[in-house]
Amino acid sequence: MRIGRLSGRLSILIGDHAIDVERASSGRFPADPDEVFERWNEFVEWAEGTDAAKARKFEPGELGSPVLRPAQVFAIGLNYRAHAAESGVDTPDAPTVFTKFRTSLTGPYEPVVLPTAGVDWEAELVAVIGRRAERVPEEEAWSYVAGLTAGQDLSERAVQLAGPVPQFSLGKSYPGFAPLGPVLVTPDEFDDPGDLEVSCSLDDEVLQKGRTSDMVFSVPQLVARLSAVCPLLPGDLIFTGTPPGVGMARTPQRYLKPGTTLLTAIEGIGELRNRLVAGNGYQEPR
Ligand code: ZN
Repeated sequence: MRIGRLSGRLSILIGDHAIDVERASSGRFPADPDEVFERWNEFVEWAEGTDAAKARKFEPGELGSPVLRPAQVFAIGLNYRAHAAESGVDTPDAPTVFTKFRTSLTGPYEPVVLPTAGVDWEAELVAVIGRRAERVPEEEAWSYVAGLTAGQDLSERAVQLAGPVPQFSLGKSYPGFAPLGPVLVTPDEFDDPGDLEVSCSLDDEVLQKGRTSDMVFSVPQLVARLSAVCPLLPGDLIFTGTPPGVGMARTPQRYLKPGTTLLTAIEGIGELRNRLVAGNGYQEPR
């Protein structure tokens, strides 16, 4: 199943048609997508019986972020060997965990403001939790995942790496620094949800292309490792890390420029298209 936030309302998506969940369920399920994860299994069961004939045609531009108010957002750094290597560090033996504060979430087609000329791209697979997960073994972890979506972990590198013991979270949490979408896809929709192409382009230029099967810690391993410490709650997000090709690791280093469009795609899910605009503090690099 594919679901989305269509003009603000939870909808089941079938090709270019959509079923409004609150109306089709006569109010049994909420119109707000953020509220459905508490009752995810019940919702999935009901959704299997919905009548596709009731679907209406929709325009992709109506889609917003499938999740906007998660209780927790986990993000994993250095989770692809080649990205760890380009960052000048060894492959981690434990996940590098930070958060993106939830006010950074935005929709798949929203413009994103660049606060400085030091903002970098990181295309990422994002897992959405479908039921409370506490000390979940890796083998059972997929059953706790409601679905997968595409995300960008935009990063202001100077803020991210400032201080004697850099804490990544703030530099990755400016407004709009976490575009998400365009849809949420349940794991059963994929031939192999553990092996998907992740890519990122700026206008027509490909910047990143990788496969999630190259992750150091897979989605099930992350659910196991994170839930060993924090209970994961319905609707929580896990940004699973980025493949190689970020701007900071290039020679010369490269960052995002206003007037361009950042495209972030994941196989079987879809593509984010975020136009980049200059913020008040943006100064052209010399
Ligand atoms: Zn990242």
